[in-house]
Amino acid sequence: MKTIILTLVASFGLTSFVQFEHTHQNCFPESDIKYPVTKSKKSISEASFIKQAVVFKDLMEEDLPAQTELRVNAEWDEEKANAVAFRTRGTAVIEIWGGLARHPFMTQDAIYMVSCHELGHHIGGSPKKLNIKERFFHFEVTKSWATNEGQADYFGALKCFRRLLKRAKADGIKLKEPKKERFTKSQYEITSSLCKKQFDEDFDVEICQRGALAGLAVSQMFESFRTGIEDYKKSKIDFSKPDSSKTKYINHRHPGLQCRADTYLSGSLCEADEDTDLATADYKKGTCTRAAGDKVGMRPLCWFNPKDAQLKDPDFSRRIPKRNWF
Ligand SMILES: [Zn+2]
Repeated sequence: MKTIILTLVASFGLTSFVQFEHTHQNCFPESDIKYPVTKSKKSISEASFIKQAVVFKDLMEEDLPAQTELRVNAEWDEEKANAVAFRTRGTAVIEIWGGLARHPFMTQDAIYMVSCHELGHHIGGSPKKLNIKERFFHFEVTKSWATNEGQADYFGALKCFRRLLKRAKADGIKLKEPKKERFTKSQYEITSSLCKKQFDEDFDVEICQRGALAGLAVSQMFESFRTGIEDYKKSKIDFSKPDSSKTKYINHRHPGLQCRADTYLSGSLCEADEDTDLATADYKKGTCTRAAGDKVGMRPLCWFNPKDAQLKDPDFSRRIPKRNWF
C-alpha cells in the first residue's frame, strides 16, 4: 500500500493538488498564446490544414476498435495552438486547432505528429493516465480511458506516423516533406545518421527521420510557449544531449521539452513491427524494451519507469484513504 500511495503522490505531486478526471486530453499544457486567423502568418494554408484532417481520418480509421468511428475535426478558427482528444459514444474524436497551422515552427509532418499524439490517447496502449475521484472517506483511483502523454508521443512516432506515411505511399498520396532548412544542420544530420544506423530500406530511413524531426518541431513549439523563443535556431532542444533524468514513478503529465523530443526520437528509431498494435494490459507488446535487451528505441526514463507498480496491474483500481494523502 505504501508503494501505491507514494506512486500516486509522485504522479500528481508537482502541483500538490488532486487531479480529477479530465475527459479532454490536450497535446500541450494550456497556454494563453493565441494565433488569430486575421493577424497571423500561416505556416500551413487553410486548405492544406483541412485536407490533412481528411487524409488522417481516411488512413488511420482502420486502427480503431470495431464499432468505433474516428472523427477528426480541423478547427481552423480556433486561435490557440493545441489539439485535443475525447470520446463520445462509439466515436473517438480528435480536434486539431488552427493556431497550430499559424505557429511559425509548424510543418505538415508536425501537424500529422500532433494528430498521431491525439490518436495515441485513444489507442496508444499502456501506460494509461489515472483517474482520481473523491469520495467521503477515500479517493478512488482507476485507470483512465486515455493513454498518458509520454506514451501518446511514443505511439505517435512508433506506430501512427509510420503507418500514415506507408499507407499514404501505398495509396499514391504525396505527403509533403519538410524543407531541410527548417531544421538546424546539426539536428538534421544527427537524425539522418541515427536512422541510417537503424534501418536499411530508404523509405524506412526517411520515415524515421521525418518522424524524429516532426517530433522536434512539436517539442520546439512547446518550448516557444515556455520560453518565448521566436526562432527555432535558438531552441535548446538537442538530440545529441538527451534528458538523462530518471523518474522514480511514471510521469503521466506532459514530459519536459527535451524528454518529449527524446520520446519522439525513440519511437522513430524503434524497429518493432509497426503493424503490431500496442496493448493496455502489456506495455511491452509491439515496442522496444530494456527487458527484451533492446538498446535503442525504448521509452525514455525521464518520464517512464518500467518498475512502476501500476504497470503490473492491468485492472488497476484502488481506494486510498484520505488521511494518507496529506
Ligand atoms: Zn496529450
